[in-house]
Order: sequence, then structure tokens, then C-alpha cells
Amino acid sequence: MSMQERKLTHLTAAGRFDICSPGECIRFLSAAPCITYNRRAGGCGRILKVLLHGTCSYDCAYCAIRLQRERLSFSPEELAATFLGLWREGLVGGLFLSSGIPQDVDEVMHDIVETGEILRQRGYDGYLHLKVLPGAARADIHDAARVANRISINLETTSPDRLGSIAGVKDYRQDILKRQAWVAEEKPGSHTTQVVVGVADETDREILACVADQYRRTHPARIHFSAFRALPGTPLASHPDTPGWRARRWYQADHLLRDYGVSADELRAALDEEGFFGNRDPKEVLAASSGPVNVNLAPRRDLLRVPGIGPKGADRILAMRRERPFTGPNDLKRAGLRGKAAGRCVTFGGRDTVQTRLFP
Ligand code: SF4
Repeated sequence: MSMQERKLTHLTAAGRFDICSPGECIRFLSAAPCITYNRRAGGCGRILKVLLHGTCSYDCAYCAIRLQRERLSFSPEELAATFLGLWREGLVGGLFLSSGIPQDVDEVMHDIVETGEILRQRGYDGYLHLKVLPGAARADIHDAARVANRISINLETTSPDRLGSIAGVKDYRQDILKRQAWVAEEKPGSHTTQVVVGVADETDREILACVADQYRRTHPARIHFSAFRALPGTPLASHPDTPGWRARRWYQADHLLRDYGVSADELRAALDEEGFFGNRDPKEVLAASSGPVNVNLAPRRDLLRVPGIGPKGADRILAMRRERPFTGPNDLKRAGLRGKAAGRCVTFGGRDTVQTRLFP
């Protein structure tokens, strides 16, 4: 294997822990790089996720980079040339670039931005996602936003105390939240962040407060959730893994907040006494504790709270009921609502009409 291939293998493997699309999976291209596919429509296709530097002087207890013995790095020129080679062959459709911080964070941010600039100067006009490092300078964030389609900084967890328990060097308020506010100003509505669910024993109640604060303050395009996995050789090696379903429940809860108009206060009702979601869709949990919804009279907001009815389904119901009232489950099927509902009751017609289960 050439040195170039070794770097690519090593630095793509180390880069796989950053999430850049929900439902992503890893593919191996030839013997070397990991490619992430965004399987959702409207995503950015095949992404090469890679680090510029494979070592880091920080002390994050969960991070795989701490285990790297080889000090492998790309220069901006090398990485740009390597990526362009893969892109021109049609093997990758976008780049997600992050990095360890071997020494000075400003130097590494300059390298990240320079890589983006080289790519743009050489005619690459595709998807470019640049990671903003904790403690990055405002000017570098500005420059990253100028060349990239998307920039992001990871929260990792929910509070200064929680971060302090797993990453003593990083200051949550200064290094993360302050930089994230700059990221939001430079790329309004088009930045993302990531929470590693369970990494610092945070409850879902804490995550909910953090996520709601994100949507209120910085308006990210998306928040990614990954389930913590203990890596052998790290200080958290014996920490229990977070079950995958917990991260999936978080994507569902996040949808309710972003797309369904459910407030954080409402969502809190789906938590158990200890402040955790169970392994059940939070929408079903909320629906089970509230009354039936009249398909013919309910506003869109209430239709969206019925399991099996999403934004498109709600809009179809509103359009169809203008023509004629819904009289039973068959009308719902005509509206394309064939999903598995959770036993939430809906009613049809006026006050005294039949009450039935949606998709019994
Ligand atoms: S700063 Fe990033 S790369 Fe460095 S140890 Fe922490 S998580 Fe890993």
C-alpha cells in the first residue's frame, strides 16, 4: 500500500465517528477509504469523510484518535489532490473534512480552510462540509463558511459539567457554545451539530433541554444523534454502550420538535420519572395520553399529533376534507395513510359520530 493509500485508510477510519447524515452507513472503496452514503432523498450523496490530522493533543475520553500511534496527516495540497482524484473518477460526490488538533487549533483551522479553498480554485463545486474545531478563531469560521456548503461544530453533550467529565481540556461555553453562535451567524440555518447520546450519562431530559435551546438560539438545520460506543483502550472502555434505539428515539423526538410543531414542554410528557424515553416512538407515547382527534374538524397541529399522520398526510386530509367529510378508516386509506398507527383514536364527522381506531 502506498503512503497515500495508508493515509487515506487511516484518516478515513478515524473520521467515521462524525455523523453528517441520518441513517448513514459506511462503505469501503477498494481497500481504502470509508464512504458515507446519505440514504435520504435530498441528501448529498456519497461523502468522503476524512481527517486532516490523525492525532490530537486534547483529552476527550471517548475519542478514538487518542489511540492512534502513527502520526499521519495530510497537507491541504495532498488532501485536495487525493479528493479531486476520487471525485473525477466518480467515486465520491462530496467531502466532509474534520481533524484532530495535534498542536495549535488556529493552524489546523487554517489548513482545513486552505483545503477548501484549493478545491474551489480547482473547479470543485460540489458538497463541502467543513468541521469547525473547538476554540476556532472567528476569522477562520468566517472563511470556512465562505468556501463550504455546510459548517458545523459538535456539542457532544449537554452542559459544561457533562463535558468536563469526559473532556477536561474543552470549555463548553467558550470553546463550543461561543463558537457555535459564530457558526450560526456565518451560516444561518445551514449549520449542524452532533450529540453523542449517553457519553456523559446525561438523561434525555437534559438532552431535550439542550436541543430545545439549540433550536431557540442557533437554529441549526439539523442535529445529529449518535449512540455512544465504548472503544477499547480509551478511558471510557468500560462505560456501558448506549443502545442504538435511544439515538433512533432521539431522531424521532427531534422530528416532532422540528417538523410537527410539538413543543419541548409537550415532549417532556413522554419521559419517564427518571427523565428517559422508553424504547417507543415518543409520538405514540404522547398520543396514548391524550384524547381522540376529529379528522374532519381538527386543525393541522392536532392532526400531526396522531401516529401515522405526518406533515404530508395532514395536508392531504385538509385538502380532501374540503371536498367531502371523512366517514371512516377507508377514507384515511384513500388519503394514503397506511402506516402503522399506535392505537390512537380518531373520530369522524360531528360531535356524536363514530369513534374508531386509526388502522385497527
Ligand atoms: S478534540 Fe476532537 S479529535 Fe481531539 S480528542 Fe477531542 S474529540 Fe478527539
